[in-house]
Amino acid sequence: MGKKNLLLHTCCAPCGTHCVKELLEDYDVTMFFYNPNIHPSGEYYKRYENALKASKELGVPVIEGAYSPQEWLEMIKGFEEEPEGGTRCKICFSIRLAETARYAKLHGFDAFTTTMTISPHKDADVINKLGAELAKKHRISWVHSDFKKNDGFRKSTELSKKMGLYRQNYCGCFYSVRAEPEK
Ligand code: SF4
Repeated sequence: MGKKNLLLHTCCAPCGTHCVKELLEDYDVTMFFYNPNIHPSGEYYKRYENALKASKELGVPVIEGAYSPQEWLEMIKGFEEEPEGGTRCKICFSIRLAETARYAKLHGFDAFTTTMTISPHKDADVINKLGAELAKKHRISWVHSDFKKNDGFRKSTELSKKMGLYRQNYCGCFYSVRAEPEK
C-alpha cells in the first residue's frame, strides 16, 4: 500500500522546509499556502514565491489558497489589539486550519496538518486542539505535531539558508508588523 496523502498548511517557506522533510518519511505531502492574514500584499506574494521555490527544492507540489485579507480582517474584528498569542491568533489559526481541512476533504486527501507548530512563539497544544476539532467536523485525519521539538526550528533555519529562502521578521498580519520580530 502506498503512503497516505497529506495536505500541509504552510505558513511560509522557511517553516515548510523541516516540516516537509519530516512528513515525507510517512506521507505524500502537498503544501497548501493559505494565509489571508499576511499584510501587505507585496509581502504575501514574496512569501508565496518563496513557497514555490521551497516546493521545487523539496520536490513536492504547492497549492495556493485564496488570498482574501478583507475577509480575514472581518473575522478577527474586535480582537485587533490582542497581544501575539492571544485570541486574535487563535482565530487566525482557526481560519487557516478550517480552510485547509475543507480543501483537503474536498480534494480527497487522507489527512491534514500545519507547519505552524514549528514556531517557538506558537502554542502547539492550541493548534493541535483546533486541528483535531476540525478533523472531526470534516471527517478527515489530523496529524498531531510539534515540529519545534528535536531542534526543529533551528533545523528549519539551516535548511532555509541552504535553499536561499527569504525569512520574514514578523509573523504576518498588520498587527504583528509592529510587534517584536518573530524569527
Ligand atoms: S500575529 Fe500571526 S498568528 Fe497572530 S493574528 Fe497575526 S498573523 Fe495571525
